[in-house]
Amino acid sequence: MSTPTEPSFRESVDMMFNRAVALMDLPPGLEEKIRVCNATYTVRFGVRLRGGMQTFTGYRSVHSEHMEPVKGGIRFSLGVNQDEVEALAALMTYKCSLVEAPFGGSKGGLCIDPREYDDHELELITRRFAYELIKRDMINPAQNVPAPDMGTGEREMAWIADQYKRMNTTDINGVACVTGKPTNAGGIQGRTEATGRGVQYGLQEFFRDSRGLQKAGMTGTLDGKTVVVQGLGNVGYHAAKFLSEEDGCKIVGIIERDGALTDENGLNVEAVRSWIASHGGVRGYPDGTYVEDGAAVLETDCDILVPAALEGVINLSNADRIKAPLIMEAANGPVTAGADNILREKGTVIIPDMYANAGGVTVSYFEWVKNLSHIRFGRMQRRQEEARHQLVVDELERLSHHLGDKWSMTPDFKEKYLRGAGELELVRSGLDDTMRAAYQAMAAVWHERDDVDDLRTAAYLVAIEKVAASYRAKGL
Ligand code: NAD
Repeated sequence: MSTPTEPSFRESVDMMFNRAVALMDLPPGLEEKIRVCNATYTVRFGVRLRGGMQTFTGYRSVHSEHMEPVKGGIRFSLGVNQDEVEALAALMTYKCSLVEAPFGGSKGGLCIDPREYDDHELELITRRFAYELIKRDMINPAQNVPAPDMGTGEREMAWIADQYKRMNTTDINGVACVTGKPTNAGGIQGRTEATGRGVQYGLQEFFRDSRGLQKAGMTGTLDGKTVVVQGLGNVGYHAAKFLSEEDGCKIVGIIERDGALTDENGLNVEAVRSWIASHGGVRGYPDGTYVEDGAAVLETDCDILVPAALEGVINLSNADRIKAPLIMEAANGPVTAGADNILREKGTVIIPDMYANAGGVTVSYFEWVKNLSHIRFGRMQRRQEEARHQLVVDELERLSHHLGDKWSMTPDFKEKYLRGAGELELVRSGLDDTMRAAYQAMAAVWHERDDVDDLRTAAYLVAIEKVAASYRAKGL
């Protein structure tokens, strides 16, 4: 956790913003307009539970409405407070801008430990929170569209969508009021894995950037790289799974709430995940070394550190002991502004949160578009695409036959070539394209400007410039 001498999360985000705008030529008024959070709504509501009334406190913060709807997750955690929600809403503005998702930034949170309530109780609480936000248009397909975040997932999003539909029975676009829904309730394939998948695609793109690799003092590909992941939740689990199963990375450390597991030969992510599901934590897992002081494992000698749990975990108290040359900020705000300065001076390359975890909002954007168009991606063109490919294959086979069957296509090639893209393939393709393009925009600034020596400042510059252009176009 952050030491008391460190700025708050929101102040940290502001400091990083200020470092970037100092390199820009924005009128001071516009700079201030972009930086400040437009509005934060606090709600306290009661729910009748266990024979009594319990009061809950929730927030929905709107950072910037330069584009609408505004977008950002809803977090269920005891750590939720106004400062945190505002910091996260600001990051959403910059994140959406960087990956060109046409939204302003928002975030919500409810002060609650979801593990203390059963499913029915959580449904009552979630629906009541949603009711409070919906009746003030703080959940609305045209104005404010939440998504999952820490402590929430597709189940909560389905409850919110249903609550909205009950209160807006004639809104034909009602299901677009929230993203991250299950596929049988208006969701899109690939959304649950999207943030972790984006972490994978982002790292793949970094490893294609020879100048970036050189700055990190790294060589080669992802294959064989050692990785430590903090938080095996939605984001951390999917990132660790894809990196180990598809890219050949070795997950040498997994840090959870109750400690950490290490194994220099690589941990089995699936096995650890199911152990946590049945035992409530990593303690006792048989195929690894258990370390009680989980945070100490952040300091392991590894190639890539992936903090994917919560903010402020790399701070003034441990930054100088972090050994990984590359940090992929899968969580929001895992590195404080003070730690960022220390790491930058050490030459550690940090791939910043606004980019690293943008896969979630990117696929949320696809889900929202799908909901508004009322048709699944690929439905119209898939079979037509397959028929055209079949024409090519038939013609090549005919020619081959004509030439005396001297060559033939491998069955594997034929099968892959003939298969038209379904929704999941299209979602992954759109996400990969987005992560590549956003990385290249950031990296161009990082490599080409002498006054920019880190990816975070580069990301802020790209993002703020687009928000500023949008305000200018409106005549503000
Ligand atoms: P989650 O609730 O699914 O998982 C969080 C994980 O972190 C859990 O496994 C939890 O046990 C673990 N954890 C909590 N406290 C810990 C601690 N002190 N030390 C180690 N582990 C701890 O949450 P998530 O959706 O995976 O979100 C994680 C981070 O990613 C958050 O910062 C969130 O804002 C960010 N994020 C999430 C999404 C998304 O699509 N879910 C999108 C963008 C960013």
